[in-house]
Amino acid sequence: MRDRLVLLGSKGGPALRPGGPWPSSSLLEIGGRTIVVDCGLGVTRGLVDAGISLKALDLVFITHLHSDHVLELGPLIHTAWTAGLASPVSVFGPPGTGHYWHRFCQAMEFDIETRIADEGRPDIRDLVSINEFGEGQVLRQSGLKVTALRVDHPPVTDCFALRFDHDGKSAVFSADTAFFPPLADFAEGAGILVHEAMLEEGIERLVARTGNGARLREHLLASHSFAEEAGRIASDAGVKRLVLNHLIPADDAEIGDADWVAAVRKTWAGDLTIARDGLVVELA
Ligand SMILES: [Zn+2]
Ligand SMILES: [Zn+2]
Repeated sequence: MRDRLVLLGSKGGPALRPGGPWPSSSLLEIGGRTIVVDCGLGVTRGLVDAGISLKALDLVFITHLHSDHVLELGPLIHTAWTAGLASPVSVFGPPGTGHYWHRFCQAMEFDIETRIADEGRPDIRDLVSINEFGEGQVLRQSGLKVTALRVDHPPVTDCFALRFDHDGKSAVFSADTAFFPPLADFAEGAGILVHEAMLEEGIERLVARTGNGARLREHLLASHSFAEEAGRIASDAGVKRLVLNHLIPADDAEIGDADWVAAVRKTWAGDLTIARDGLVVELA
């Protein structure tokens, strides 16, 4: 298996628009492991379309509990279970992930009990282990090392950037964050930095389209990064490739790749990818 990153859902925020991209989720295949990072709406469809057998679901990481990152965690695992999942799935997430999972299983109790009795399936609750993590080392297993860094995403305090290292290859996910200089040390020398990004000129049009505009603008400015800021982190970290992801806005017809490139080129001269759903990036 070649090591690759597949951007399954590339937009920031939970809204869906006709023909537009899906909220946050990514697939990372590294060192023979199948790793899902964030489970926004569309993650299950995205994994299947990327050629992944849901039965092979292995490791799932959640950066924070905003719905555009966690809404489809339960449905993903449940769908894998009905597809014949028979091996354990390990879910790593911030405090509160266990609460989400237990309540999801309660909400689906009728279906789960029915399928166990009627179809002879193993108990889904025994197949899933939930591991709530904080800052520092999250996992070290067969050459795969995963570390977490708390980032700046108010009002959410448990929001973590994640770094995956295996045999000299590495990928870092910024999670959702305002400009956060410690990310540069955390991402130092990484093969790929997947960083969230907003585009200034798109924010006003987005705010105008959405109700509650003033509060939305306030949240975006306090809790997210501009493309130029993502480029600054990538330059300071000396990564091999920057991937702009969790794009805000992601579905404005007036804004295209050229606008993102123009913004990020002010601070980043290296290899660059602007995320879109289904895009594959080889791991260097
Ligand atoms: Zn988000
Ligand atoms: Zn968020």
